[in-house]
Amino acid sequence: MFRFSIRDVLWLTVVGLGFDRLPAYPVRSFDEGTIVTILATSKTRRTAGPTVAIHCPQCKRETKAETYEQEERMGLYFIPLLTQRETCVKCLDCGTIQLTKLPLKDLEGLSPGGLQPWLFPRVSIIAKFIALASILLFCAPVVGLGLGVAGLIMNFRSGGWPKVVSIVAIVLSLPVTLLGIVGLVVGPRH
Ligand SMILES: [Zn+2]
Repeated sequence: MFRFSIRDVLWLTVVGLGFDRLPAYPVRSFDEGTIVTILATSKTRRTAGPTVAIHCPQCKRETKAETYEQEERMGLYFIPLLTQRETCVKCLDCGTIQLTKLPLKDLEGLSPGGLQPWLFPRVSIIAKFIALASILLFCAPVVGLGLGVAGLIMNFRSGGWPKVVSIVAIVLSLPVTLLGIVGLVVGPRH
């Protein structure tokens, strides 16, 4: 059915980790919209909305921003794990993305002051995905702990379930990793 070269598998791993947004990545042998992978799946759908004026928290002044609705899905081995639907407001000057609970059609003609209370910072789906992966892989020595620490750092400020899950993964994977290291040092006993 599908044949994968090592290059494809590497690329699909990169896509699965969310790094496909790097524009310079040289290998693109699959259609981005319909990636079928053996390691991880990632799918994004986007609908454009109106351009609005915002008070950008990064530029610290009034700027223009593009708006769009985005649906991202991530999964492992054909099992969908996360779907994230969000309405994004992206500053056209610095590229900072904020989210809003308002639907696209309500954004048209809003003043920066009127939009401000509806904006909140974005947590990337990658940060959530790493938190989830850390708890699923906690029994893998080193890997589970590494993912847990990465998940905690990435989700530290935004909090919510990804932060809690990362902490639980660290607590669970710490003894596993320690045992793994001890096992490695002591070596197999006969
Ligand atoms: Zn900005």
